[in-house]
Amino acid sequence: MTRVEVGLGDRAYPIEIGAGLLSQAGERLAGTVRGNKILIVTNAIVNNLWGEKLRQSLKKAGFSVATKEIPDGEDHKRIETVAALYDACVEARLNRTSAVVALGGGIVGDVAGFLAATYMRGIDFVQVPTTLLSQVDSSVGGKVGVNHREGKNLIGAFYQPKRVIIDTDTLSTLPAREVRAGYGEVIKTALLGDPALFAFLETSGADVLRLDAAALRRVVADCCRTKAGVVEQDERESGLRAILNLGHTFGHALETLTGYQTYRHGEAVAVGLIAACRLAEFVLGLPETVTSRVRNLVKAAGLPAHFPAFPAEDWRKALAMDKKNRDDQVTFILPGAIGQCRVLTDVSLGLALQVIEEIQG
Ligand code: NAD
Ligand code: MG
Repeated sequence: MTRVEVGLGDRAYPIEIGAGLLSQAGERLAGTVRGNKILIVTNAIVNNLWGEKLRQSLKKAGFSVATKEIPDGEDHKRIETVAALYDACVEARLNRTSAVVALGGGIVGDVAGFLAATYMRGIDFVQVPTTLLSQVDSSVGGKVGVNHREGKNLIGAFYQPKRVIIDTDTLSTLPAREVRAGYGEVIKTALLGDPALFAFLETSGADVLRLDAAALRRVVADCCRTKAGVVEQDERESGLRAILNLGHTFGHALETLTGYQTYRHGEAVAVGLIAACRLAEFVLGLPETVTSRVRNLVKAAGLPAHFPAFPAEDWRKALAMDKKNRDDQVTFILPGAIGQCRVLTDVSLGLALQVIEEIQG
């Protein structure tokens, strides 16, 4: 098992990573949550695959456990779903010392976290992420919330979990496409803050993608460490935390243009990383070799390395909609080298469009 600490003072918490941790969840939570009542929030797919293992472990440790499923899919990451969960909390007689445990991907984690942040003004929250994306990204850092019909993640809070338990075995049932999508965020994390991880992906990325336990544990731990390091410095995104959005300005534009239907988020980020590198060649003098190395990682994982063709005007509008923007400037996070990146607000939109045109095909 590997342990990564998120050092946030009185809200500090451990992330535990390893194969088979689900069956130790009970003992791990015994010293973590205050009371003995737990509501597991999950969905039908994950519950059928992994729910019983978690419940058994929690019950063995003396917890009284209720489970509530939410419907699968981004469409259900909305306030009505949280409202149904409040009913489940009341029905299960959860009190101030009870805990919510999120068992699932990023959607379950974001929704369950918002529930925990708001039920009785905040009860203990634990993340048990079961997708690669949620293990390397969304379960760490305390952003929780739901979508509004006018925009993604418009309603939410910063609410840190008490513990994150990552059982890499749960990825054995994850569809291959979801593994690849999560891997897109892994490449992003390596590029923005971890040259050693980047080199490891170049030699051993295939091991990660075929879910070799040791490779997975290392990669998940490295990603959590980098994200924790950023969040420790800027928990509420007043500046630095924005670097976690490397590749996302282009990626979000692509998701917008394709109506969030064609690409998984991590796929859009993967091609977005190539675009960010290419743009950084012009703006920051990033060596061309870095762009090639990123492109190679993206291609080796079977992630998209090209943008689909859209008129430049559509791309311009989509880029201008990104929520990181202040006024009419488009913010780009660009790498200056492997493991270093900067937030730039004065990049020429024309140059970005030129890069997109080049990568279309
Ligand atoms: P997801 O939660 O939809 O999971 C993907 C699919 O995999 C779902 O169908 C799910 O039911 C299924 N699944 C989950 N675990 C499984 C398993 N072990 N075996 C088989 N199937 C399994 O998607 P995601 O990519 O994990 O998360 C995306 C969400 O995360 C988005 O809503 C995004 O906004 C959010 N997010 C949040 C943060 C944050 O900081 N809070 C960061 C990044 C993304
Ligand atoms: Mg992302």
